[in-house]
Amino acid sequence: MQFQFDNSYAALPERFFARVAPEPVASPRLVKLNRPLAHELRLDADWLASADGVRVLAGQTVPDEADPIATAYAGHQFGTFVPQLGDGRAILLGEVVDRSGQRRDLQLKGAGRTPFSRRGDGRAAIGPVLREYIVSEAMAALGIPTTRALAAVLTGEKVQRERMLPGAVLTRIAASHIRIGTFQFFATRGDDEAVRRLADHVIARHYPELAGEAKPYRALLSRVIERQAQLVAKWMQVGFIHGVMNTDNCSIAGETIDYGPCAFMDEFDPSAVFSSIDQTGRYAFANQPRIALWNLTRLAECLLPLLADEQEKAIEIAKEALGEFSDAFDAVFTTGMLAKLGVAGGADDEGLIAEFLALLAENQADFTFAFRRLCDAADDDASGLRAMFAEPAGFDAWSVKWRHVREQRRLASGEMRKINPAFIPRNHRVEAVIQAALRDDFAPFEELLTVLSRPYDDQPAFAAYAEPPAPEERVTQTFCGT
Ligand code: AMP
Ligand code: MG
Repeated sequence: MQFQFDNSYAALPERFFARVAPEPVASPRLVKLNRPLAHELRLDADWLASADGVRVLAGQTVPDEADPIATAYAGHQFGTFVPQLGDGRAILLGEVVDRSGQRRDLQLKGAGRTPFSRRGDGRAAIGPVLREYIVSEAMAALGIPTTRALAAVLTGEKVQRERMLPGAVLTRIAASHIRIGTFQFFATRGDDEAVRRLADHVIARHYPELAGEAKPYRALLSRVIERQAQLVAKWMQVGFIHGVMNTDNCSIAGETIDYGPCAFMDEFDPSAVFSSIDQTGRYAFANQPRIALWNLTRLAECLLPLLADEQEKAIEIAKEALGEFSDAFDAVFTTGMLAKLGVAGGADDEGLIAEFLALLAENQADFTFAFRRLCDAADDDASGLRAMFAEPAGFDAWSVKWRHVREQRRLASGEMRKINPAFIPRNHRVEAVIQAALRDDFAPFEELLTVLSRPYDDQPAFAAYAEPPAPEERVTQTFCGT
């Protein structure tokens, strides 16, 4: 037995999922196996990379010990409620307990049709698979909660998108795949019993410390709110735009999940939107905290029957919990942004953060590059940073204030470099990797993964990867491509 599955979700009532096996594919070929992650999961990396292992990763064979399922969920997509979504192209192979004792889902994304596929083909193309692999692993290396990528395989089949593209399967690892939309699926059907079962499952699995609380469901709501607030605050610190913050793409465990048309910003612009389908800018960079709270409000609605017997009382409790979002967000955001500026401590009475961001926006300065150069400025070499401002007067004035604050509350430049990455998965690099992969050249993919695995280290051999795109390299739109 290669997998020691210990499945808890498949033990929930039948209406939580559909039992379904992956669809076999023509001729699987391994593109990439994440060996350190395999080790973390107590999986045998050599076996996974063998012909038998690759067949499992491609969904061509199902291990005897597996009990594959597709889970049911609903969701608000761009604000519109869809009562049934579910895993339309993803199959949960099973759960494993990792070396640290944490339960992790092993899911095949792109493994064929399920009862939730609607009009979709259940498949994934190589582009989105590599994109999710790169960006989720980059997020992990940055220290931001995220699902992980265990493997990418080619299926040997083509999928029809705008054109025919090589098909692929991503093996995704997650604390769980339970979303706000999973709660919505049952709540909107008036299935209070299922909502309670799901909440109990989530507490046992993700928040076991709450099991003994007098009001566990109230505490659960608070903890999910806190984790989402912290997560989005961390996104904001690296210039990440999720792109599809629908309630079905919002993990109850507080991990970043579903890397579709996501992007890291190059030049700083609070209104930045990359997703081709986000016409109104609902999921623009600066809207993300507000949208997270909107999504959490939908979760609170689902939990109302568990919060109090009387609805009015339940609403009052839910409002109180939702009121905690803003402080939870600010705590992480302000401390983190101050640390990026090399300032220790929790308050920004001088307005250093907002003013620096305003300068970046006015000058269309590259977000990641500017903060990394600020580390040099903390070492008394401000020339590189200053050169990023067309009109440096504003920066000079800010700089005086900044140095003054740092006299009292200084973080060493070495510390600053541990929170200001040199390397992020820039769009133009990800795009170049995908284009090369379509020519069956995976060397750029490997190299980008290598660079992004150490985002905070100067890697002189790869200095070009830290650079913003040249004007002709800029990628301003990203696509779901599903
Ligand atoms: P996403 O926007 O990727 O989060 O997907 C939204 C919904 O569409 C989910 O229910 C997916 O399972 C489903 N979906 C996306 N792509 C496909 C596909 N190629 N085949 C079947 N279902 C899909
Ligand atoms: Mg999704």
